[in-house]
Amino acid sequence: MEKIYVIGHKSPDLDSVVAAITYADFKNKKENTEKYIPAVAGEINQVTEFVLEKYGFAKPEILTDDTVKVILVDHNEISQRFSDVEDLEIEEVLDHHKLNFSYGSPIPILVKAWGSTTSIIYKKYQENNIEINEKLAGLMLSAVLDDTVITKSPTCTETDKEIIAELSEIAGIKDWQAYGIEMFKVKSSIVSLDAEEIIKLDFKDFEFKSGIIGAGQVETVDLAEVESRQGDLIAKMEEIKSSGGYHSVILMITDILKEGSLVLVVTDELEKIEQALDAKLDDNKVYIEGLLSRKKQLTPNLTKVLDK
Ligand code: MN
Ligand code: MN
Repeated sequence: MEKIYVIGHKSPDLDSVVAAITYADFKNKKENTEKYIPAVAGEINQVTEFVLEKYGFAKPEILTDDTVKVILVDHNEISQRFSDVEDLEIEEVLDHHKLNFSYGSPIPILVKAWGSTTSIIYKKYQENNIEINEKLAGLMLSAVLDDTVITKSPTCTETDKEIIAELSEIAGIKDWQAYGIEMFKVKSSIVSLDAEEIIKLDFKDFEFKSGIIGAGQVETVDLAEVESRQGDLIAKMEEIKSSGGYHSVILMITDILKEGSLVLVVTDELEKIEQALDAKLDDNKVYIEGLLSRKKQLTPNLTKVLDK
């Protein structure tokens, strides 16, 4: 029997791994087959490992063979795929990101502007009357809570909130908020990470007219844990700045409970960065109330100032 691999993006997050596991499961049950195999595009992160273990799911295999047939979940762009071969055999795409996709033949593509790919898959189980048991519900709930930052993310929709309520019910989790916080504690536990690993957890380059800024973000429920290491972090950011040719390196340490971010900055453009943050830095740092999103708040403000 020919296998079809269901796979999420590189640097797998929880949603991309859970979407691969559950969509393969859904397709196998719906088509009464075993040909759909979940896979991942790299090593899974701490919170994913925690959730798979908690609900008793095996870690999907890391796919390297790019001559096989695949279904892409939680991504579509070539830069995010496990392989950049142009003639990758794609059977289907299921995603909640903007499309940057072209393909030589018509294939099913389903994109919804919901908070997680797992939310889309949940609706598929429902529409097809395929049962979701307690463990599967716990797995799916975890992914939706993670991708929507326990519903606090601006990407979280009413549909996601309904799904969270329904999945908590099936999973027998009375207080999903408390469970979400427990998960984020695991996710943001940086005890075992060195300064560079913390900065690079979620680090992206942004190009402006004046040069490139590197901006990382860490989401935490325990700001004090990260705060106690800010000296280390700033020293490492200086190193990254000079070796990477950045004019600024920024690290947003976001406390999702306090709903604000401690922003660490090393820069050659102090005045402009302060203008973009609308705040004065004290010793390379400032806490900004209400700053939660790099995508929707930080980078647009940097663009306004730096691309003027
Ligand atoms: Mn993802
Ligand atoms: Mn996602």
